[in-house]
Amino acid sequence: MATAGTRSSSRSRPLYVLGIESTAHTFGVSVVGEEEPFILSDVRRHYRPERGGILPREVASFFSRVAGEAVGEALREAGVGPRDLAGVAVALGPGMGPALRVGATVARALAAAYSKPLIPVNHAVAHIEIARFTTGLLDPLVVYVSGGNTTITTFLEGRYRVFGETLDIALGNLLDTFSREVGIAPPYVVGGRHAVDRCAEGGDYVDGLLPYVVKGQDVSYSGLLTAALRAARRLGRGRLADVCYTLREIAYSAIVEVAERGLAHTGKGQLTLTGGVAASDVLREKLRLMAEARGVDYKPVPKRYAGDNGAMIALTGLLALRSGAPTLEPARAFIRQRWRLDEVEVPWYPSTLG
Ligand code: AMP
Ligand code: MG
Repeated sequence: MATAGTRSSSRSRPLYVLGIESTAHTFGVSVVGEEEPFILSDVRRHYRPERGGILPREVASFFSRVAGEAVGEALREAGVGPRDLAGVAVALGPGMGPALRVGATVARALAAAYSKPLIPVNHAVAHIEIARFTTGLLDPLVVYVSGGNTTITTFLEGRYRVFGETLDIALGNLLDTFSREVGIAPPYVVGGRHAVDRCAEGGDYVDGLLPYVVKGQDVSYSGLLTAALRAARRLGRGRLADVCYTLREIAYSAIVEVAERGLAHTGKGQLTLTGGVAASDVLREKLRLMAEARGVDYKPVPKRYAGDNGAMIALTGLLALRSGAPTLEPARAFIRQRWRLDEVEVPWYPSTLG
C-alpha cells in the first residue's frame, strides 16, 4: 500500500502543465490537470490593431508587456504553484517570429527557474487536440481553418497527415483581408460574427461573379480575393452585400467539398472543425449538413476554444508528457516559424484527457 512520501504516492498525484500560446494575435496562458475540470485556468490577452493587419513587432511588444501578469493570473486562478507543475509547454510554431519569441522566452525562463521540463508544442496539433478533447471524437477527420491555416487532416501511422490544404492564403486571411480592404473591418469579429457574415446579410448569390477554385484535394483563395475586391469596386457600396454573400458561399463551399472528399478518401466516420474560423455559424452549419448526408458523426469545437488559446497548448503538453514524448532543455527551445503539422510524432493518439 502506498504511504505518503513513497514514490508510488507521489506518482499517483495528478500532473499539471502550464501552457503558453503566442503564435499570432493572442497571448494565452493556461494550467491544465489530469482530473476534472481539467482546464483550471485560461487567461487570454488579445492584440487588436486599430487599423490594418497585424504588425509582428507591435504584437511582440504587446505580448512582452502582458506576459508576466498573464502567467501569474493563470497560476493563481488554477490554485497551482510553479513548483507543482510537471512541465511548461509552449507553442514553438508555426507562427510569426517576433511573437513566438516572447512565448518561448517566458517558457524558457519559467522552466529554468523551477527546473521543469520544457514541452515543445506545435500550434496546429494543439488546435486538433482541443477539438478531440472537447468533442470526445477520438479519431476524426479534422477541418482546421484559421487566420494562417486551411488544412484537412487526420491521424494515420503516427502523425496527423495533410489530406488537403490551401495552395495560397488561408480562409481567415481571405475574410480578414477582404473586409479590411473594402472598409468594413477592423474589428473583424463582433458578437461572434465576422464582418463578411454581417455584410452578407440581405445579399444574394450572384452566379458567375467570383471564381470557385478547388484543385483535387486543395483549395485556392488568392484569385477569389482579387476577384472579390474587383467586384466590390465595380458594383459599389449598394451591392457590397451581394459580393460578401457570394464570397462567403464560395469560400466555405470549397472547404466543404474538400472535407467531403477527405472523408471518402480516409473512410473516417467522425468529423470535427477547429481553428478561429470554426466560430462561424455559417460554416458550422454547412459542414453539419454534409456530415448528416454522409451519416458521419460531426461535432465542431466549442466556439470558446475555436480561436487561439493557452488551454490547447497546456492540454497538448500534458498529453505529450504523459506519453513520454521528448522534452527540451530550456536553452534548446528554439522557435520554428514554419513547423509543419505532419512533422510531429503523436505517440499519445488516440487517447486524450478524461
Ligand atoms: P486563430 O488564429 O485560430 O485564432 O483564428 C483567427 C481567424 O479566425 C481570423 O482570421 C478571424 O477573422 C477568424 N474568425 C474568428 N471568429 C470568426 C467567425 N465568427 N467567423 C469567421 N471567422 C472568424
Ligand atoms: Mg490558431
